[in-house]
Amino acid sequence: MTSKPFHLAIVGGGITGLALAIALKKRGVQITIYEQAAAFGEIGAGVGMHANAVRAMKIIDTELLAAFERVATRNAWPSKKNVWFDVLDGTAEEPASSPELLKPLFTLIGHDDGHAACHRARFLDQLVPLLPEGLAQFGKRLLSIDDPEDTDIPLTLHFEDGTSAKADAVLGCDGIKSRTRAHLVDRHDQEAAKPKYSHKFVYRGLIPMKDAVATLGEERSANSMLWMGPDRHALTFPVNHGQTLNLVAFVTTDDPWPSKDAQQLTLPATRDDALRDFAGFGLNVLGLLRMTAPQLERWGLFDLAENPLPQFFRGRVCLVGDAAHASTPHHGAGAAMCIEDVAVLAELLGDPSVTDTVGVQAAFAAFDSSRRGRDQWLVASSRRAADMYEWRARGRDFEAIADEVCARQAYIWNIDLDASIAAARKDLANRLALGLPTAAAPDKTVPFPPDIDFHLRDRGS
Ligand SMILES: Cc1cc2nc3c(=O)[nH]c(=O)nc-3n(C[C@H](O)[C@H](O)[C@H](O)COP(=O)(O)OP(=O)(O)OC[C@H]3O[C@@H](n4cnc5c(N)ncnc54)[C@H](O)[C@@H]3O)c2cc1C
Repeated sequence: MTSKPFHLAIVGGGITGLALAIALKKRGVQITIYEQAAAFGEIGAGVGMHANAVRAMKIIDTELLAAFERVATRNAWPSKKNVWFDVLDGTAEEPASSPELLKPLFTLIGHDDGHAACHRARFLDQLVPLLPEGLAQFGKRLLSIDDPEDTDIPLTLHFEDGTSAKADAVLGCDGIKSRTRAHLVDRHDQEAAKPKYSHKFVYRGLIPMKDAVATLGEERSANSMLWMGPDRHALTFPVNHGQTLNLVAFVTTDDPWPSKDAQQLTLPATRDDALRDFAGFGLNVLGLLRMTAPQLERWGLFDLAENPLPQFFRGRVCLVGDAAHASTPHHGAGAAMCIEDVAVLAELLGDPSVTDTVGVQAAFAAFDSSRRGRDQWLVASSRRAADMYEWRARGRDFEAIADEVCARQAYIWNIDLDASIAAARKDLANRLALGLPTAAAPDKTVPFPPDIDFHLRDRGS
């Protein structure tokens, strides 16, 4: 394939940056990745992906989808293949003599392949070999960008190590603490570029499956469960091809994030802290927490819900993934949205009409118009979902919780990405034909999705 006559810098080599690099290489776009760390790597444990992410991966590159499939773990039981989560009352006590009494309140039914989860680092390990060597530069922590108005002059990226680099445009894939985001926000209003604490934090643990089975039993260890409770909830699902149980335990608090540095998203904690926070839960969740390491980490959940960006691009700098729309994780779809972003942006930048920096800017504007409404809807909706799981939004009205959660998940899962990309391409063509590459698009605020798909859930009996 002939290479496009421009060179793009990708800042950040997480899931978004790597997927974008794979997508753009395939479409003949020249790129360099600048990653602050000494090597590609992921912190954290499991990440779940749904039908929308799988559809996006297929569009990006079937090699990417194959890489994901190599590390994906699904519910083990054939009868649970299409189940995203069985939702239970985490505070209910289970009589040892009759464990079947604690039945799911309802079941969230996903697509045919259900909830596929993988270990983050294992997924990244699969992505790296899909890129040619030498495409990434490490130890390059971006500090600032010079963005001349004359689009014939390249931008300059300045790094913490004193070096700099040139590019025709910049793709900020630098995650929730994005430095690139600061470039999009007025210099006097840098607070607007910072994520805010959602007053929720999370303990995460990986538990050997044989230990998990001893506490939860076979069915609940081998399949994904969501344990609801007042101001707290927990998720459990298998990763590592069923050898490990991933435990994610969420806590809501009125307290501010206990760190002077709001950019510090993890703080030390102990297993005892977690057990104290989950006092009042049943023995299932408490039993798992007891199996976590004595020293844990507490992850503050920050997002951009309170300060959504008015645009995902400015000039020749465009944000993609968490850098643009960092979300709390309650829909389990943050990374999936990043991958959708990548599919749309790569198809736009790879379009034959995009041959220079004016075309690149038009592609950025079409991307913004296509994606911002959906991405920012997810950020807001994710907060709402957690409030439902923690009985803050709809009390203990489990019927109403089930209906609303299902409607929201359906909106996320059922996107017709091909149609979305076709519309974005049309927008790109119009922009180029009218000679107005970055003209403002109409407001794309997404309302609460009105169509409730009742097929997506089973009521507990
Ligand atoms: C607890 C939790 C659970 C989650 N669970 C799910 C889930 O089940 N499903 C799902 O879809 N999503 C989930 N998410 C969301 C998902 O993790 C993120 O949306 C996704 O990882 C974001 O990827 P990213 O590449 O955009 O950003 P990141 O993963 O943050 O990557 C950013 C990269 O940029 C680099 N970087 C940062 N600053 C600079 C700089 N100045 N210069 C150079 N490089 C820089 C970083 O080192 C990093 O490599 C969850 C999130 C959390 C917090």
